[in-house]
Amino acid sequence: MAVEGPLLRQAMRRWATGVTVVTTRAPAGFHGITVNSFTSLSLDPPLCLICIDRRARAHEEIARAGAFAVNILSDQHEEIAARFAGRRPDLADPFTGLALAAAPSGAPVFAGVVSYLDCAVQEQLAGGDHTIFVGRVEHAEAGPEGERPLLFYGGAFQRVVMD
Ligand SMILES: Cc1cc2nc3c(=O)[nH]c(=O)nc-3n(C[C@H](O)[C@H](O)[C@H](O)COP(=O)(O)OP(=O)(O)OC[C@H]3O[C@@H](n4cnc5c(N)ncnc54)[C@H](O)[C@@H]3O)c2cc1C
Repeated sequence: MAVEGPLLRQAMRRWATGVTVVTTRAPAGFHGITVNSFTSLSLDPPLCLICIDRRARAHEEIARAGAFAVNILSDQHEEIAARFAGRRPDLADPFTGLALAAAPSGAPVFAGVVSYLDCAVQEQLAGGDHTIFVGRVEHAEAGPEGERPLLFYGGAFQRVVMD
């Protein structure tokens, strides 16, 4: 018998992750979605994966663009994470006022990210109500050593405290 949704959510809230915003450049413009299902998958060949809700607009945008950038957020980026999780409905365009650079694929990269990966979609795998997008990493940049990542734990954004 399958576990019930509320219990699954309760259990998964105990799992700490980093926070990313996955961006694309589509013909209609830029799109971004806050994602914590990002995982490094393989070093040789260099692969990573993200899991995207089939109902989210990002799903269509990533599939259509055939490429995406994974922005790994720093602890200064909580407001950006909120924007791309649909928590700033007052902003018609969540990219408004943000300092952006372009990854080689053309996907936007935020200033001050801990690191970013630029990927070509290699495979799309069915995963229940999500699709697993496997990305072939074509370019990566790491920010300065010591930059602290934003975390998500217990249903809230958290910060790393170093010992
Ligand atoms: C820390 C954090 C991590 C997250 N990680 C992930 C992740 O790994 N993968 C992921 O997919 N999302 C994730 N989300 C949620 C995601 O960021 C938000 O749902 C975001 O608003 C999606 O943006 P969008 O513009 O692509 O989708 P939108 O088109 O704005 O859709 C937002 C959500 O609304 C619902 N929705 C939209 N249209 C319909 C419809 N017609 N019928 C029913 N429901 C509908 C869907 O659940 C959809 O995901 C995360 C959110 C947070 C805060």
